Amino acid sequence: MNTVNGGISFWYAQDGAPVPREPLPGDSSADVCIVGGGYTGLWTAYYLKKAVPFLNITVLEARFCGYGASGRNGGWLYNGIAGRDRYARLHGHDAAVRLQQAMNDTVDEVVRVAGEEKIDADIHKGGVLEVARTPAQLQRLKDFHSVEIAFGEKDRILLGARETAERVHVSGAVAGSWTPHGARLHPVKLVKGLAAAVEALGVTVHESTPVTEIRPKHAVTPYGTVRAPYILRCTEGFTASLKGQHRTWLPMNSSMIVTEPLPDNAWDEIGWSGRETLGDMAHAYMYAQRTADNRIAIGGRGAPYRYGSRAATTADTARTGPATVEALREILIRFFPRLDGAQIAHAWSGVLGVPRDWCATATLDRSTGLGWAGGYVGSGVATSNLAARTLRDLIQQDSGQSGPTDLTALPWVNHKVRKWEPEPLRWLGIHTLYAAYRRADRLEAATHTPTTARLATLADKISGRH
Ligand SMILES: Cc1cc2nc3c(=O)[nH]c(=O)nc-3n(C[C@H](O)[C@H](O)[C@H](O)COP(=O)(O)OP(=O)(O)OC[C@H]3O[C@@H](n4cnc5c(N)ncnc54)[C@H](O)[C@@H]3O)c2cc1C
Repeated sequence: MNTVNGGISFWYAQDGAPVPREPLPGDSSADVCIVGGGYTGLWTAYYLKKAVPFLNITVLEARFCGYGASGRNGGWLYNGIAGRDRYARLHGHDAAVRLQQAMNDTVDEVVRVAGEEKIDADIHKGGVLEVARTPAQLQRLKDFHSVEIAFGEKDRILLGARETAERVHVSGAVAGSWTPHGARLHPVKLVKGLAAAVEALGVTVHESTPVTEIRPKHAVTPYGTVRAPYILRCTEGFTASLKGQHRTWLPMNSSMIVTEPLPDNAWDEIGWSGRETLGDMAHAYMYAQRTADNRIAIGGRGAPYRYGSRAATTADTARTGPATVEALREILIRFFPRLDGAQIAHAWSGVLGVPRDWCATATLDRSTGLGWAGGYVGSGVATSNLAARTLRDLIQQDSGQSGPTDLTALPWVNHKVRKWEPEPLRWLGIHTLYAAYRRADRLEAATHTPTTARLATLADKISGRH
């Protein structure tokens, strides 16, 4: 059987295409206009409408809700947030601890609302397991583990080789770090359920409506302009295609493959009865989940970036090159050698947004009414929910309906960062970075040294990642 490639994602192939919603019929007005119908836009509409039921909210989506990363991701609902360590340096350790605590709570918040709204997204809260397979990865795992505990994760546990294997039998794993703050989910079931929930609340959602320009109080589309005091840009990896935003967030590719459902005797050997989301400590890291129907979905960096930030706009963003499919299949077999020969059912890709300093943010510019959230660098399934509640609070504060809240005081709020370099520097930088990471992983595996390859540390520094 051939591997299906593209078609948005396996999650859509499994759950079915969405029912199309009507495009914007012409000029209109709203209290809040949200551009982008992924998790960020939909969660924001959800919390705003819940807080202020009479608000007139319009969501404008270029294709259909969940067309972007929200319909393609690895289904790790977990407590990681891009930029926490930098925020600790900029705003102090305690502020970053509060941010981390908010992320821990966010995992439970998503699970809670999904339950309340009867969104069956195959959610299983089995925590997050990260494993080390080389001496250098082991050292990084221990360092990572201590840092997470220092940021308040007292319930995280370090596992030896045997304890790790008792959870998931990853070949060659020498240790693991497990936190309860994570859940596996079906991305498309969540995004479809959310879109239905916001519509049921009375939010207007227009699909097939690309916004060509955002300016204060205006979202311009080919079918008309929506005028609103607040315009929120929730376009993450697609942001570069908006007028004036070309160098704001770099559209980075991530690719995934999924196996056919695996037989019981494979699971007897692999274990994974806790359905933890699974990751590793490689520089070019992998992420995986055991799906509700007993497949393994596994992802990692594909060809990371296309020249000129083009990836976001091309129609075939979901297709994955054969070299990337093969690289992911090799990781699958390295981790689970008995799956050599297992059928890969589907491969796909998506884009995520990377700011120049790799720090996520939720921002409202009070002088213009323009807001945005994103730059999650691949950790947006939970973070988009925190962002949405934060945008809600910022708008309520700005419109005089409430004062500052715990969320508006978090250090990632209203964070500013410079733009990415023009081409060809952007393309060269990203490709050199990922080539360096892959080479560092190979070096560490070959030399068995416990020290992180200097190449990777240097790449982190130059890229502005740490
Ligand atoms: C392959 C892959 C795997 C990932 N795995 C994980 C994971 O396991 N865990 C995790 O935490 N994160 C993961 N991520 C990241 C996570 O999916 C994203 O951070 C998150 O979905 C971002 O949500 P969003 O709503 O901000 O953006 P998106 O979901 O990308 O939504 C943006 C929406 O805006 C629309 N849009 C774009 N331009 C316009 C326009 N001009 N006008 C109107 N609408 C527009 C798009 O069509 C899209 O629907 C992954 C990402 C990818 C690509």
